Amino acid sequence: MAKKIIVIGAGIIGASIAYHLAKAGAEVLVLDAQTAGGGVATPNSWAWINASWGNPEPYSRLRMRSMLEWRALESVHPDLNVNWCGGLLWDLPQNELAEIVATQKSWGYDVDLIDGATALKIEPRLKVPPELAIFASGEGSIEPVAATLAFLAAAQTLGAKIALGAEVSGFHTLGGKVAGVKVGEHLHEADEVVVAAGVQSLGILAELGVALNLEAPAGLLVHSKINTKLLNGLVMAPDLHLRQTQQGRIVAGSHFGGARPGDDSAATAAALFKQTKDMLRGAEDLEMEFYTLGYRPTPKDGLPLIGRPTHVSGLYVAVTHSGVTLAPAIGLFAAAEIVHDKRDPLLQPFHLERQ
Ligand SMILES: Cc1cc2nc3c(=O)[nH]c(=O)nc-3n(C[C@H](O)[C@H](O)[C@H](O)COP(=O)(O)OP(=O)(O)OC[C@H]3O[C@@H](n4cnc5c(N)ncnc54)[C@H](O)[C@@H]3O)c2cc1C
Repeated sequence: MAKKIIVIGAGIIGASIAYHLAKAGAEVLVLDAQTAGGGVATPNSWAWINASWGNPEPYSRLRMRSMLEWRALESVHPDLNVNWCGGLLWDLPQNELAEIVATQKSWGYDVDLIDGATALKIEPRLKVPPELAIFASGEGSIEPVAATLAFLAAAQTLGAKIALGAEVSGFHTLGGKVAGVKVGEHLHEADEVVVAAGVQSLGILAELGVALNLEAPAGLLVHSKINTKLLNGLVMAPDLHLRQTQQGRIVAGSHFGGARPGDDSAATAAALFKQTKDMLRGAEDLEMEFYTLGYRPTPKDGLPLIGRPTHVSGLYVAVTHSGVTLAPAIGLFAAAEIVHDKRDPLLQPFHLERQ
């Protein structure tokens, strides 16, 4: 008989897990307190798909695998619509770039050290090109809400049910095991419950005594009005990360995780937008349309929290930053663990209990 699984959260992590669970033959119910497409993180994400610098090898390998899974998924579900535009990066001391490239290449990541002239060929609108930069041709980005909705639609096609405006207020336990959730007066029973509620997972899990070592840093991104093409790919310059959506909006933050909003987020957004315009030739008439303020679910050691807590059965937790990059691999591996009790070796370092 099919396992009955409830997924709490219809952000990109919950949506990918729901899709992969349905594909693995589970009977899936997704519950979200709000609308489909995520809460404070997914709709406000810069949405860079990468295994870029600064991560330990096991984490880089998980990210690289997820990039491959994005490609595999996209070949079956083109509406996920990944823009494999490549990433140009130089937000690091120039004397560290060569070593980073050498390390990443030794792990199998497709990166090159390039000079300023080559950088300018990749992004001809840069007013001041870097002397040296890293170019990762296999990086990309998505429109995170659209991709989340595509995961949910694919899950529904496979029989998953999705209930929106359904806030989980607590768990139903039987003999010490999680056996479902409460939504208002309703009880939804399940063989296992997946908590994929981003930063809100902390509050949900408190009732079960599951503590997550989690922070929720704020990140502000500015979005321009739709414009003609100014950028070919992702640009990670010191203090300014930029990309252009396929629709034509420039999305910028002082860092991919967004700018710190400060006391006056509108003033921060205006300053960031000015910096964006100043960086590119031909951006004189670019206009800001809106800015977003998101909160990244960020485990304190920077690594994903994925798996079953040892002291509570019937429960699976999936909370991570870089959820846009990682959604395909986390969805695939979580489904295999929940349905077939097989934990992929790439997930081994990311147990909850390491905290
Ligand atoms: C500014 C910013 C920039 C980022 N840049 C990148 C990037 O470049 N690359 C990258 O890979 N990642 C990036 N991230 C991180 C990435 O966006 C997140 O890791 C990812 O979106 C997390 O998705 P999620 O589904 O876990 O959480 P969310 O999108 O927050 O979704 C959680 C869902 O759970 C629901 N929920 C919460 N509580 C309940 C409840 N009690 N009952 C029912 N439903 C509930 C919420 O309504 C919500 O829909 C960025 C994030 C931010 C904010």
